[in-house]
Amino acid sequence: MAYTYDDQNIFAKILRGEIPNKTVLETGHTLAFEDIQPQAPVHVLVIPKGAYVDHAHFAAEASEAEIVDFTRAVAEICRMTGVTPGDGGAGFRAISNSGEAGVQEVPHYHLHILGGRPLGRMLA
Ligand code: 5GP
Repeated sequence: MAYTYDDQNIFAKILRGEIPNKTVLETGHTLAFEDIQPQAPVHVLVIPKGAYVDHAHFAAEASEAEIVDFTRAVAEICRMTGVTPGDGGAGFRAISNSGEAGVQEVPHYHLHILGGRPLGRMLA
């Protein structure tokens, strides 16, 4: 599968420092920042610094170091924002919208972390 990455997407501009963001965590391979239109008290977007379109692209082409860094950053953000179950938090939801049916608006892989309120069942 060949992936085409649009380097003019909004998260690419955030990574280049062309657009400001409210950073929650930055690691070697990962950036996490607050969503501009939060859907919950905690709504953090986690993105790899590398140019990946979606989860499938990231899983196929990112290095193991990038994948480990991203995965651990997600856990660290949940801990920092107080939503980790069993660590003082009530839980969270992690969502990655992909493609047209998934209503992915920004074509740079990202995970939404939502929490801080009861989220209800998600069926659609
Ligand atoms: P998607 O539908 O691609 O999964 O969601 C993209 C998310 O990016 C949306 O929740 C939207 O609010 C967020 N977003 C769009 N533009 C910006 C921006 O310039 N800054 C930040 N922090 N979030 C943005």
